[in-house]
Amino acid sequence: MTNEWEIEVHGYGLVRISKSLIEHLLSYRQINSSAAESGGVLIGKHLNSNGTLLIDDYTPPQPSDRQGRYEYYRSDDHNRLVQKIWQESQRKSTYVGLWHTHAEPIPNYSSVDKRDWNIALNKSMYEGDRLFYFIVGQTHIRCWMGTKRAVFNKIELIGEYNANLA
Ligand SMILES: [Zn+2]
Repeated sequence: MTNEWEIEVHGYGLVRISKSLIEHLLSYRQINSSAAESGGVLIGKHLNSNGTLLIDDYTPPQPSDRQGRYEYYRSDDHNRLVQKIWQESQRKSTYVGLWHTHAEPIPNYSSVDKRDWNIALNKSMYEGDRLFYFIVGQTHIRCWMGTKRAVFNKIELIGEYNANLA
């Protein structure tokens, strides 16, 4: 059984991650020794006025991506998929962040990840000034939040999901 994952973010509101999204992301875990990194884009809906974000969809790895044991390159095909999902949802389902896997139990971001996340904050189109980043490890999914700022962006760990307890 997978439970919904909720993160209360001070000064922002509630971030809810749907059960089905967690189940899908866990299916990409790099458990066996040859599994490559996977990744894509996170898609969510900003719900009503009380500042709730529901993250409930994603783009899966695309044939045009580059997937290695310790590297992952996300192709532009993800942006095209996001556009399509956005239009088909009457502009409700929108790009809210990025996900990828790591071959380690409790994941930490690399310098390459941090650069990628900062580029996303600075260059991509999204609602508001924040993006969410999941790294799916072998036992835990961790969520970081990036806040766009004039000088230095802020990137902070905001939550952790233990798949062993699910
Ligand atoms: Zn990484």
